[in-house]
Amino acid sequence: MTNYADFHRRSVQERDAFWGEQAQLLHWHKPYEQVCDYSNPPFAKWFAGGQTNLCYNAVDRHVAERGEQNALIFVSTETNTEKAYSFAELQAEVQRMAAIYQSLGVKKGDRVLIYMPMIPEACFAMLAAVRIGAIHSVVFGGFASHSLASRIDDAQPTIVVSADAGMRGGKSVPYKHLLDEAISLATHKPSNVLMVNRGLAEYAKTEGRDVDYATLREQELNTVVPCEWVDATHPSYILYTSGTTGKPKGVQRDTAGYAVALAASMKHIYMGNPGETYFSTSDIGWVVGHSYIIYGPLINGMATIMYEGLPTRPDAGVWWSLVEKYKVTVMFSAPTAVRVLKKQDPEYLTKYDLSSLRGLFLAGEPLDEPTAKWIAEALGKPIVDNYWQTETGWPILAICNGVEPAPSKFGSPGKAVYGYDVKLIDETTAEEITEPGKKGVIAVEGPLPPGCLQTVWGDDQRYVKTYWSSIHNKVMYSTFDWGVKDEDGYFFILGRTDDVINVAGHRLGTREIEESISSHSNVAEVAVVGVADQLKGQVAVAFAVLKDVSKAATPELAKALEAEIMKVVDAQLGAVARPASVKFVTVLPKTRSGKLLRRAIQAVCEGRDPGDLTTMEDPAALQQVKDLAAR
Ligand code: AMP
Repeated sequence: MTNYADFHRRSVQERDAFWGEQAQLLHWHKPYEQVCDYSNPPFAKWFAGGQTNLCYNAVDRHVAERGEQNALIFVSTETNTEKAYSFAELQAEVQRMAAIYQSLGVKKGDRVLIYMPMIPEACFAMLAAVRIGAIHSVVFGGFASHSLASRIDDAQPTIVVSADAGMRGGKSVPYKHLLDEAISLATHKPSNVLMVNRGLAEYAKTEGRDVDYATLREQELNTVVPCEWVDATHPSYILYTSGTTGKPKGVQRDTAGYAVALAASMKHIYMGNPGETYFSTSDIGWVVGHSYIIYGPLINGMATIMYEGLPTRPDAGVWWSLVEKYKVTVMFSAPTAVRVLKKQDPEYLTKYDLSSLRGLFLAGEPLDEPTAKWIAEALGKPIVDNYWQTETGWPILAICNGVEPAPSKFGSPGKAVYGYDVKLIDETTAEEITEPGKKGVIAVEGPLPPGCLQTVWGDDQRYVKTYWSSIHNKVMYSTFDWGVKDEDGYFFILGRTDDVINVAGHRLGTREIEESISSHSNVAEVAVVGVADQLKGQVAVAFAVLKDVSKAATPELAKALEAEIMKVVDAQLGAVARPASVKFVTVLPKTRSGKLLRRAIQAVCEGRDPGDLTTMEDPAALQQVKDLAAR
């Protein structure tokens, strides 16, 4: 049995030897020359000189051994569809999609933007892109036209792949009009839009630009599209995430480092074996969907379940029924989903045979102790909290039970994962904190392990400035999370150091929401903060100063204006970003130098002490917030 402390130490101190061993989990077209080239910090080139292909590792190489076994299991409780694709069938579908891309002129290095619901074609679309060396950028289907337009302008895709609609709670959620609006708002115009028509919603077609997937697929049924061998460092995808500015950051992932990191994590963290079934309840629009619905399980030769629907429909037993039916061994979800299930009849957890399940992994937001305890007892299986970010692509903190089984501690996502030299840093002195229980910023010493972001798409400077320059005098990666460590090396997360909030596991930038609200003609100024919420972890609450206060003079008028503002956010960013409430104030709490006191606003909203307010311009402003928050 390996000792985890030794395993971790070796991963950092004998980095190249350690990762060279993990790299054996992949198929290499050409072996790498160097494990990690860190000659230009903080930019790390993993497996430089090597050549491989992500799609080959996820699909083609499994066909000989397990071609007839399930690879992708699509379940929609919205359209009542269930369809499994074997590795051989998946390979055929991906080649058809890749052939369509080529017929539309997509070449190696071109971007393919994917704006789709949770349907198999979305999986084909991702794999087809990396198959031909194109770079995909999946935009979460819950985002609306402005969010989409800014991503189109940044990624400059050659084509966009989309669908007529998604479905949620039995209602169709049309996509195409939002996409049309986004393209008209964007400066960059993709040459084609490839439409998967599910027959759920009518949509307008733009002649010469919009093309039909089903029609083109018929023409490519038997087309063979070989995998394009790309350099290890060739970008595989861009995934946008929110930060402190309104402009989303394009997290750029490489090819080989990512594949090695995922393959290793399946072994050491998730403990999934080839031939088994993995079920992640996330969405392909998020990083968990990329790493653990699509790439991780498939690279590991596992079947993966892609689920469209709610956890409670037709009833709260639906996920467990899938665990029974497909003999799921590894399940991955988010604390919010567990909190939703906790409100339902506990009978659903005992109704199905869950003996195949080895563990439930939860990530994306803090896992509170009552939720963790409830699910651990109800399920009778290990619950493994794991902490990571869109930027890293795989866990920074977890219990690596695949290396050495260890107990979890409620409220802690565990210890530093192998490959990450995690340190707690004192915010003021920038010194490492070694004392147990003392709060600091969670940071990682460079180089980041394989799989983490290479850079910010098209903006190396932003990458360095954002992530590697916030710790005074040190070149260290900042996670922008506060944490503490106990005497056993277990970390506890204490929230973000920046203006990023986490609503039901969805990461949102308060600045983006503020910009959207400010576009309402009656809003002079606005502050958005994240406020603790029992179900969603956090919700966004907005405090707005109006140009014309008469428009909110009565409670009825204020309600109507609040609804109007929410509609603006829905249309521009999407319902996921909609604040839970918009409250009207005459002035916002600021420092004398004009800086918004967000943390003080957040504290009073949560009934906490706002801390030192000596720099505050107008104490009455915070009182207004406090009065409104109490209502
Ligand atoms: P995202 O990039 O959307 O995955 O969001 C990453 C952020 O979510 C992190 O920086 C944390 O603030 C939070 N987060 C993710 N996983 C956890 C976890 N297991 N415990 C606490 N916070 C988490």
